[in-house]
Amino acid sequence: MKFSAPKGTRDLLPPETAAWQHAEHVFGDVCRRFGYGEIRLPTFEQTELFQRGVGDTTDIVQKEMYTFPDKGGRSLTLRPEGTAGVVRSYVENGMASWPSPVRLYYAITAFRYENVQKGRYREFHQFGCEAIGAAGPAIDAELISLLQLFFAQMGLAETKLRINSIGCPVCREAYQALLRDWLKPHLPQLCDNCQDRFVRNPLRIIDCKETRCQAVTAQAPAQADHLCADCQAHFDGLQHQLNVLGLSYVIDRRIVRGLDYYTRTVFEFVSEHVGTQGTICGGGRYDGLIETVGGAPTPGIGFALGVERLLMELDAQGIQTPPAPTPVLFLAIAGDHEDEARRLCFRLRQAGLAVETDLLGRSLKAQMKYAGKSGTRYVLVLGDDEAASGSGRLRNLETRAETEVRLDQLEQHLLEA
Ligand code: ATP
Ligand code: MG
Repeated sequence: MKFSAPKGTRDLLPPETAAWQHAEHVFGDVCRRFGYGEIRLPTFEQTELFQRGVGDTTDIVQKEMYTFPDKGGRSLTLRPEGTAGVVRSYVENGMASWPSPVRLYYAITAFRYENVQKGRYREFHQFGCEAIGAAGPAIDAELISLLQLFFAQMGLAETKLRINSIGCPVCREAYQALLRDWLKPHLPQLCDNCQDRFVRNPLRIIDCKETRCQAVTAQAPAQADHLCADCQAHFDGLQHQLNVLGLSYVIDRRIVRGLDYYTRTVFEFVSEHVGTQGTICGGGRYDGLIETVGGAPTPGIGFALGVERLLMELDAQGIQTPPAPTPVLFLAIAGDHEDEARRLCFRLRQAGLAVETDLLGRSLKAQMKYAGKSGTRYVLVLGDDEAASGSGRLRNLETRAETEVRLDQLEQHLLEA
């Protein structure tokens, strides 16, 4: 029997994993500059947390969750996103008493039962941030500036920021009524899903990816043109703050985001390079969410970035990430000197150097061939002469230059090289 990775999952192998490590490192570094601390959470949660926290009418909860009963009869779900778990943890751990705003970041795997295609997997990776406890637009802009800086540090200058406001429960109710009235005569042209959304959550129709639905909604009234005074002030404030920071953006009245908990600010970073799945990153404000999962009313804002899509974008733009490190030295063995070679190798590794030696009893010629392929910078052959004299010739494989070095000073030499 042959096994293969389950549909929609991927093995990440070296040297590709070096790009992942680089992205994780840069993300963590940028987050720390903004005062975000890393949070690590369980991979699965009670199903009800997502039903409430993501929202019963969303595609995620309706169609995409990996939900299973455990042996104790509890219904559990592999996390389809990170925010619900963070907010659960915020409430459970009493973070309301921490200095406000509480700033958290994460790097997680997420699971959604989706149609697998380019940039769309069933297990995928997200980087995310959540800032909980600040209501004004300054934190929205700060969070967006964190993302801009992250993209810039990754070498992505071209990514486009789109922002919108989807109001609050007060102005959304009036807008939903307006939207329903407007959509009613166009109902027959909409897809089956949108027929359903019309009843449950008409706002989501604006978000539909079907071309025929997009053709209908192109002219539909937008929430951003029907905000209450407070939401309008917040949206104006956000634009002012983005201008203050010199960040460019476009207002896209069609962004509504797929999750139920968003209020006011929503934003996306999009690109043309990641297939039909143009969104690399999406985020928004969720002022009602903490209450929904049992906390005191508390404002919050966050984003999640798809790491697969980020790396696709880097690739499409030809941006190189630092390559996987290769050993600095291959210690070849001529004759009966395995023990000395392994001891020397371990000593060099203890000194912090990446080195390799032969473990397969290969001929010297085969060892040299292996060293050439491994990308190592230097080779040193340990044979009778070297063992007897305590020194050997360090050969630079690139320049072919050779230097005589004492074996007991090899680490200093390589560390300085
Ligand atoms: P989409 O509209 O592409 O389905 P979404 O609105 O469902 O995205 P979010 O829930 O906002 O996505 O997740 C944030 C980010 O996670 C997305 O912008 C995307 O980069 C990434 N993402 C979401 N679903 C997947 C998936 N199935 N495979 C890979 N990346 C994904
Ligand atoms: Mg989706």
